[in-house]
Amino acid sequence: MRIAIVGDGISGVHLALRLQQLGTDTTLFGRTAPPDLRHARALNFVARSGRTRQHEALLGVDFWHEPDTLATARTVTVHAPRPLTFRADPHPAYSMVDFRIYLPTLVEEYVRRGGRHVVTDLTARTASGAARRHDLVVVADSRAAGGLFARDPGRSPFRTPPRLLCGGLYRGIGEAVPHGIEFHVLPGIGEIVRLPFHGMDGRVDTLGFEAVPGGPLEPLCRPAPDADPAAFRRAVLAALHQYVPELRERVDDRAFALTRPIDLMRGGIVPVVRRAWCALPDGRHALALGDAWIVNDPITSQGANLGSYCALELAEAIADGPPYDEAFCRRVERRLRPHTDAVVQWTNAFLRPPTPQILELLRAADADPAVAKAFAANFDNPPAMWRSIATPEQTAAFLAALRPQPPVPAP
Ligand SMILES: Cc1cc2nc3c(=O)[nH]c(=O)nc-3n(C[C@H](O)[C@H](O)[C@H](O)COP(=O)(O)OP(=O)(O)OC[C@H]3O[C@@H](n4cnc5c(N)ncnc54)[C@H](O)[C@@H]3O)c2cc1C
Repeated sequence: MRIAIVGDGISGVHLALRLQQLGTDTTLFGRTAPPDLRHARALNFVARSGRTRQHEALLGVDFWHEPDTLATARTVTVHAPRPLTFRADPHPAYSMVDFRIYLPTLVEEYVRRGGRHVVTDLTARTASGAARRHDLVVVADSRAAGGLFARDPGRSPFRTPPRLLCGGLYRGIGEAVPHGIEFHVLPGIGEIVRLPFHGMDGRVDTLGFEAVPGGPLEPLCRPAPDADPAAFRRAVLAALHQYVPELRERVDDRAFALTRPIDLMRGGIVPVVRRAWCALPDGRHALALGDAWIVNDPITSQGANLGSYCALELAEAIADGPPYDEAFCRRVERRLRPHTDAVVQWTNAFLRPPTPQILELLRAADADPAVAKAFAANFDNPPAMWRSIATPEQTAAFLAALRPQPPVPAP
């Protein structure tokens, strides 16, 4: 059996590496030669969770262990009239390595192990063409997916970006908690996140602004190719001063700068869930994987981690053997839905004004480290996270289960 994987982002390359381990013949299609990706503009700033790092260990590509690539702490602050702040540390640590280092390294490793990597234009037509020479096509490139997989309206409530984004790599920011991620919620305005990050020149920091459209952070996130770098720097510092003054105080004014113009991404993402699979004109089938299937806003840091999760599950299903027909596609979809639906619902809930039960959970985490710890663990367990916030009753049950039980009187 021969599998075509159209797209060599984290989803495609994790699938390719796992199928290679399982002895399945794969061809991995990408749009950029690995060395060229190292000089590309940043498209994202990804924190890979403990679960994804476990996948990397299984795949034999856990190449980044230096403390500067890891986050062992996470602080959540809600800047409300009654401010909340608590530690929700990730266990195991998250890893942050620039995808312009991470992806080419993994693709090169796949090739070193004997894999075929073809650099070409990736379109819906590439996928249909690949189907003629393969038993199954997996589309793992979000731009190639549009012409193949229809939007699933029931799971895609947004038509416009719920946030506008401005992410970049910076020098000159100090940390309050070493190797810590800090996540600031500004109700009605958006979110500001700072992550330690391993970039081209070693340790830097990511600053991410998620702006509610029409709110005061929006101008920072509007793409402006002819932007004046000095004015942009002033605007970033002003936003930090106004909304996260404790973070602004840790900025060293002499050292603070965007690392390079290509280390900045601005724009908006429309979250979308597409159909999970389709029949191709020649009767074969194509499955959508990663962002080709589901695009999430990065607010919950789930997209790449979800792509890796689905890739490893899909690899096991493919390795069970053909036929890769409609029944196979339906089985794969059923297997992945509980996890993917949980990610989408949780992420979309965090994009809306918080429900009373989310506020209750955050207040409980602020008051009780045991709740904060359970909340933190759920970041790497999306079905559990969604169960803990889906309804007021489920939140109450989640919190009750964490309360110490009174001793049972002796009979
Ligand atoms: C600002 C931002 C921050 C994010 N933060 C997180 C996070 O913390 N955690 C998380 O799990 N997800 C995060 N995401 C989402 C994550 O980036 C995507 O979900 C994930 O990369 C999708 O991978 P994919 O393989 O499914 O598809 P795609 O990204 O569509 O990959 C397919 C194609 O894109 C190319 N490609 C991918 N990345 C790059 C790149 N950086 N430069 C050039 N080409 C590239 C690949 O080579 C491939 O051909 C973030 C996204 C953004 C925009």
